[in-house]
Amino acid sequence: MQWYQAVFSRIEDVTERHKRFWLTIEGIKNFEFTPGQFITLELPIDEEKRPKRWRHYSIASPPNGNTIELIIVRVPGGKGTTYLFDVAKVGDKVPLRGPLGKFTLPEDISSVDICLIATGTGIAPFRSMLWHIHNKNIPHKNLFLIQGARNLKELLYYEEFLDLEKRLKNFRYIPVLSRETPPNWHSYKGYVHQVYKEMFKPREDILFYLCGLRNMIDEARDNLTQMGFNKKQIKFEAFD
Ligand SMILES: Cc1cc2nc3c(=O)[nH]c(=O)nc-3n(C[C@H](O)[C@H](O)[C@H](O)COP(=O)(O)OP(=O)(O)OC[C@H]3O[C@@H](n4cnc5c(N)ncnc54)[C@H](O)[C@@H]3O)c2cc1C
Repeated sequence: MQWYQAVFSRIEDVTERHKRFWLTIEGIKNFEFTPGQFITLELPIDEEKRPKRWRHYSIASPPNGNTIELIIVRVPGGKGTTYLFDVAKVGDKVPLRGPLGKFTLPEDISSVDICLIATGTGIAPFRSMLWHIHNKNIPHKNLFLIQGARNLKELLYYEEFLDLEKRLKNFRYIPVLSRETPPNWHSYKGYVHQVYKEMFKPREDILFYLCGLRNMIDEARDNLTQMGFNKKQIKFEAFD
């Protein structure tokens, strides 16, 4: 697997604990990957063994040239994110390896519905997939995005997905807030689980993609199998 040199080309605060990072990969024009894949960064975090300096991040942007976007949450006491949030600055270089992973959509999605379920930064691979489908005009059936967060502020890319819903045919965006009901909130309150339980009945022509922390993924896998979906219809990527 090839290592590249990347440079932090832009960094933006989103909330007190989320940042967007743009990395530009040097020496190539196009960084080719399949939406849903991740990269590994080797961070200067002073561990003896090299793999202990490695942290994985899903690519949050669709393929487009040699710059990729990451969305990262600060993990209290976490070595990698403490470095990324408190030390890394625009212009710094970082070794980057990838693309890696098999959390990707089937090549042909013209005859299967896709339901993407994310909490927190688990939204990253889905943002890449959805924009790619939009940008490349990929034939598709129904696309559902169920996105959970504590409050509106932490609903990452909220405005953008509302906009995408208007532009991407057969795409339905369903945000869910667990700890806040903003004025004029027309979507769900609670957790992502109640939403897919309400929306879907067992059938073969749908695939579920789950991304976020293990607790959410385990609960969703249990629920979906109990509802009657086949394990082969459920793909997942756990971040912890
Ligand atoms: C395939 C893959 C893709 C990933 N993509 C992303 C991404 O797009 N955005 C992102 O923010 N993170 C992502 N992660 C998590 C990331 O790799 C790191 O684990 C995370 O940034 C914490 O690193 P750290 O060095 O700060 O914490 P560490 O010191 O390595 O670990 C501290 C503890 O935090 C737990 N932990 C890891 N991630 C989280 C989290 N998100 N919230 C709470 N606890 C956590 C770990 O299990 C560990 O117990 C991904 C992980 C994998 C395996």
